[in-house]
Amino acid sequence: MTNLAKYAVSTENSKGRLVFESSPQYRSQTQRDRDRVIHSGAFRRLEYKTQVFVNHEGDMFRTRLTHSIEVAQIGRSIARVMNLNEDLVEAICLAHDLGHTPFGHAGQDALNSCMKNYGGFEHNLQSLRVVDQLEERYAEFSGLNLTFEAREGILKHCSKSKARKLGELGERFIQETQPSLEAQVANLADAIAYNNHDLDDGLRAGLIDMEPLREQALFAMHFEEVCQNWPTLPERRMIYETIRRMINYQVVDLVETSQENIEKLQPQNIDDIRQSGPLIKLSETGYLQHKALKKFLKESLYRHYRVHRMSLKASKIIFSLFEVFMDDIRVLPKDVQYRIQSAESSLQEQSQNADMFQARMIADYIAGMTDRFAISEYEKLFNPLTLT
Ligand code: MG
Repeated sequence: MTNLAKYAVSTENSKGRLVFESSPQYRSQTQRDRDRVIHSGAFRRLEYKTQVFVNHEGDMFRTRLTHSIEVAQIGRSIARVMNLNEDLVEAICLAHDLGHTPFGHAGQDALNSCMKNYGGFEHNLQSLRVVDQLEERYAEFSGLNLTFEAREGILKHCSKSKARKLGELGERFIQETQPSLEAQVANLADAIAYNNHDLDDGLRAGLIDMEPLREQALFAMHFEEVCQNWPTLPERRMIYETIRRMINYQVVDLVETSQENIEKLQPQNIDDIRQSGPLIKLSETGYLQHKALKKFLKESLYRHYRVHRMSLKASKIIFSLFEVFMDDIRVLPKDVQYRIQSAESSLQEQSQNADMFQARMIADYIAGMTDRFAISEYEKLFNPLTLT
C-alpha cells in the first residue's frame, strides 16, 4: 500500500498475531486477514441472516452479507482517501457482524436472556469468539489467528468486566483509549450503511411513510434536489437517487471533518491516535442529522408492528431451541455433543462450571445458525408432524 499515513496501521507498527506467522509471499498481513474472513464459514452464513427483515421475506432486502459488503465499500472509500490501511478496514468491515445471531436484534436479545445466568451473550464478543476460536480451518491454530488490529476493530464494544478477561485487547475499554483510525472508520461506515439501507428496505417494504420522512433534514435536502432536477422520475428511482446522494454526502462530511481533526492533532504515530479522543467523526450538523434519522427509523421501522410480530416469533424460536438443547444434549448434532462432553470430562469441577460450559457451547451453536436453519430446526423439534 503506497502513501500510508504515518499514524495508519502498518506491518511495522502492528502488534501481530497470537500465533506468529511470517509474512505471506505476495500479500500483506492485513490482506491475509481480509482473505481469511472471506474464506470463513461464518462469513458465508451471513447470506442467510438478516437484521430487520427475516431472510425469507423477500430477495430484495439486505442480508447481513450484503450489509457487510456495503459497509466495506464505504469503509474502503474513506480509508483510501485518508491514506489509511484500506485492507485492514475491509477486513474489519467484512468481519464485524460474524457473531450475530439469526433474526437480528430480536435474536440477540433472546439469546442474551437465555444466557443471563451463564455470562450473557454480546454479539461483538461473539464476533471475536468466531475469529479467535470457533472457526476450525487451520492446522496450527483454532480460529483465524487475525492480527491484533483486526481483532480490536471487530471488538467494537465491550463491558469493562468482560474486557478484564481479554488481556491486551481489552485494555482500551478499561483505560478508555481509542482503537486505530481503521477501526474507527469501520465503525462509522457501519452506521452510515445501515441507516441508509434500512431506509431503502423500509420504504420498499411499505413500512415507512414518505410524509414524515420528508421532515427528516438529511433525506429532505437530497430528495428535494432530486425532485427539482427530475420531476417526472418514478418515485422508486427518486428514492434510489436520494439515498445514493445521502451516502455520498455523509462520506464527504466524515472525510472532511476527520481530516480537520487529524490536522489539528498532528499525530506522529499510531500511539498518538490511541491516546487522543475519537478522530473519525461526522460534523456536528452531520451527526445530528444522522442521529435524527436513526431515531426516525427506530420509531417507524424497527418498532413497526409487522417487524415486531416477526421479532416475537424469532425470540420464541431462540428461547425454545436453547431450552430444549439445555434439557437434553442428545438432540444436538454429534459434533456439538462431542464438544460438550469432552469439555465436561476435562473440567472435573463443580457442576456449575459444566452448566456454564454447556450453555456457552449451545449459545455458539444457536448464534451460528442462519434464519432459515433456526426455523427448520424449530419445525423439526417441535412440530410432531415433522418426523425427521
Ligand atoms: Mg453492522
